[in-house]
Amino acid sequence: MITDTAYWEPDIERLSRQDMVALQQHKLTVLGQRLAASETWRSHFATAGMKPEDIGHPEAFGELPMLEKTDLRALYPYPLLTVERSQVRRFCATSGTTGLPVMFGFTERDLGDLLPRQMARIYVAGGARAGDIVYQGYGYGLWLGGLGFDLGAETIGATCFPVGPGRGELAIQWLRDQGHTVCSVSAFWLMSVVAQAKEAGIDPKRDWRLRLGFFGGQSISAGFRSELEAEMPEGFQAVNSYGTTEAGGPNVGIACPHSHDRNEMHLINEDTVLTEILDPQTLEPVGPGGEGEIVLTTLEKEASPVVRWRTRDLVRLSENPYDCPCGRRGLPLIGPIVGRSDDMLKIRGTMVFPSQVEDVIAATPGTVKEAWQIYIDRSDRVLEEGTVAIERRPESNAGTEQLAKQVADTLRARLGVRLKVECHDLGTLPRYEGKAERVIIRDK
Ligand SMILES: [Zn+2]
Repeated sequence: MITDTAYWEPDIERLSRQDMVALQQHKLTVLGQRLAASETWRSHFATAGMKPEDIGHPEAFGELPMLEKTDLRALYPYPLLTVERSQVRRFCATSGTTGLPVMFGFTERDLGDLLPRQMARIYVAGGARAGDIVYQGYGYGLWLGGLGFDLGAETIGATCFPVGPGRGELAIQWLRDQGHTVCSVSAFWLMSVVAQAKEAGIDPKRDWRLRLGFFGGQSISAGFRSELEAEMPEGFQAVNSYGTTEAGGPNVGIACPHSHDRNEMHLINEDTVLTEILDPQTLEPVGPGGEGEIVLTTLEKEASPVVRWRTRDLVRLSENPYDCPCGRRGLPLIGPIVGRSDDMLKIRGTMVFPSQVEDVIAATPGTVKEAWQIYIDRSDRVLEEGTVAIERRPESNAGTEQLAKQVADTLRARLGVRLKVECHDLGTLPRYEGKAERVIIRDK
């Protein structure tokens, strides 16, 4: 459904691609001059025989060293802070699922001006408006998700309820009694809240007023999205969004009403978060329709900026990245996150992403979308055997064996590799509220 088009900063959001690139170029030059004052940044660029001022030279940019997790860890406790610690108003941290959390600072301007503007664009492009009532279900503390979405909601003139994760028992009633119109929450969590509501005799379709959901964290497949939309009040839209702590918030990607049906997102803040989509092996930019890794450079962030940060998140650049009918002509379109370059599994030599497995499960009627697992058996460091575990909905017409065969056949056709599929009864496999651990490697 295409609704009205609105912008938070029309002068910038509607720039042509050419003007957007010129604006980025200007900001890159200023960034280079700023980073030249920092000893740590000078030594970082020196590893490639370069200096911070080279950021401003278009022909040199692609030669600048990439920023990796190990670079940040080596600079513990405040990597690449770039301003005096006394200028930092708040620290946020990465989730630390693969090691120690990394601290990112925010100055008064980062928190009071930059992030609110970035997040306001996210909300408005996704369809939220002043007057909306927001159920904010992302986490707080050192994590940036909750704070980012709060700032965005408040900036556009919506009313924010910072509920945070969990509290399903209360949420099912609040959604009815407080009449939230927008939610920013994990899609899998919302699905579980729907189940809790139904058990308590609350019908989300009839009793809730939600019309829009912002789903960051894990991208959701088109199949899962349709299923979620079907459980919600008429006209509800599930909108994918994307961001990372390193970029300075959940501020990178958002679907507009025109790109929603194609499951694509605008890089909505390209004038403050410059995004390259690079082939993870060659590190060369991919063309339209190509798949690559998101690499980020923050152009305006004062504390803890990043230059060419490798997110490891893989996406497909749209076949038609520019000139979206919504008017955001110079803000490129990308598909949902298809996987992480370090999540990529090579099973008997074939590339498999867990997200592809998820897509197949979500598209098979009778399975439980939020409950699945991949087990990989490894011997001598070679991944030999893959087993996919799924669950059957009790009301499904197909039996467990039939479902397992159906999923195995589709996986074979889609991925070109034979995986074993075991189908269990409802409630057998683990559920995840935060980051899901879907792949388990077993040594033989
Ligand atoms: Zn658009």
